[in-house]
Amino acid sequence: MKIRVKLLLLFLTLFGTLLLIFAIFIYVYSAKTRKDQYYKHLKREAVTKANLLFDAKVPPPVLQLIYKNSANALFEEEVAIYDTTFNLLYHDAVQIDKVKETRRMIDEIVRQKEITFEQGTLQVVGLLYQYNHNTYVITAAANDRYGLSRLEELKYTLIISFVIIIGLTIAAGYYFVAKALTPVTEIVDKVGEITATNLYKRVQVKNQKDEIGELAQTFNHMLDRLEQSFDGQKNFVSNISHELRTPLSTIVGELQLALIKDRSAAAYKEVIKLSLTDAQRLVRLSNGLLDLAKASYDQNIVSMKALRADELLMDAREAVLKINTEYKVDLLFEREIDDDDDVSIKGNEYLLKVAFINLMENACKFSADHQCTVSINFNADQIELSFKDQGIGIPDDDLEHIFSAFYRGTNKDFSPGNGIGLSLTQKIISMHHGTIQINSALNKGSVFNISIPHI
Ligand code: ADP
Repeated sequence: MKIRVKLLLLFLTLFGTLLLIFAIFIYVYSAKTRKDQYYKHLKREAVTKANLLFDAKVPPPVLQLIYKNSANALFEEEVAIYDTTFNLLYHDAVQIDKVKETRRMIDEIVRQKEITFEQGTLQVVGLLYQYNHNTYVITAAANDRYGLSRLEELKYTLIISFVIIIGLTIAAGYYFVAKALTPVTEIVDKVGEITATNLYKRVQVKNQKDEIGELAQTFNHMLDRLEQSFDGQKNFVSNISHELRTPLSTIVGELQLALIKDRSAAAYKEVIKLSLTDAQRLVRLSNGLLDLAKASYDQNIVSMKALRADELLMDAREAVLKINTEYKVDLLFEREIDDDDDVSIKGNEYLLKVAFINLMENACKFSADHQCTVSINFNADQIELSFKDQGIGIPDDDLEHIFSAFYRGTNKDFSPGNGIGLSLTQKIISMHHGTIQINSALNKGSVFNISIPHI
């Protein structure tokens, strides 16, 4: 069911129910008022007739004649007067006798002084009347034809008004809901037009403050991010192609040159050595890309277990020194470790080692002395590692870019690389809910501070 119909139905149900309750209340209240008013009217009529009979001494036949000749005797108030022992003293029309009084009824009136009740379509009152120290019982009955027909009219007026108001509400509600949802329809149409080839298109924001404006803005922000990530993907692919092409064309060039004419064994050896260096560069690049792909997995796919950070650092150090024998990495424990839990983290062993190896290698690679110090500290919440070197440092302008994939700083000529290491390291650290932060001074050195929560 469309939102437009749902909203309309909801509004209609709510409004219809309230209107119905209101109409029923008016009807019930009017019916009760009419009934009460009519009982009062009957009482007045009864007392007036008793006054005429006893006080004004109007003879009963005259009163009966007036009753008989009234415009519509059938609906006229019919009054009967008894003494307290059920002797009939006066009756408007014995032959009509609307209320069949009984002894019990007269006793009941004497006991209660006044009663009211309904008999079929008639309303009846019974009351006591005092005259000259004597007590009489009067009954008066009639059908409130006028009041009931007005009540009936009110009922039809309410039903017709209800139907008309509901009809108007449906029409107005449909119009306003459609008007309110037009911007949503526009957004839906616009979004339908956006594909991978025209990601630059944006949804029009008419009113920034209303909910639909917010929806449009959120959607536009999402498109910004999508466009950025699309561009990032495009750059990523062209960067990879570039990184692969350079060593591959060097290898091809060197091998072609070697084949042009016969050379000495030493010359061939030189060509093989150069090609091997380029091939190793390619291996490093493909390993880095593979690790980058792993670090981009969903955290739930990567297996995580409890690890000791100090052991990971020692393994990383060993791996670095095995390949780069001239490097020197010192491990420094800022606090004594009393318990396994002090340095425990939940993580992926392979990826964390890759991150630590990158930081150690960078620190040694960008330092003339090829040395770095890794210190380990911890508190109740997290472990804190800092990778410190006294190397060439990172220019301020580079600091905000060095975590982008394939970005190499302006100091890149100092040592070869592919620009994947830090972006990979950052991905791995954030995958472990940790943070990475740099302090660097040109020609003085850099410190990479990392913190990772225990669990
Ligand atoms: P690569 O080391 O392969 O160039 P990285 O992603 O590891 O790529 O590092 C990106 C850039 O950050 C490097 O090119 C370099 O400019 C800078 N950098 C990283 N670590 C250091 C460091 N310890 N000292 C100086 N510069 C560094």
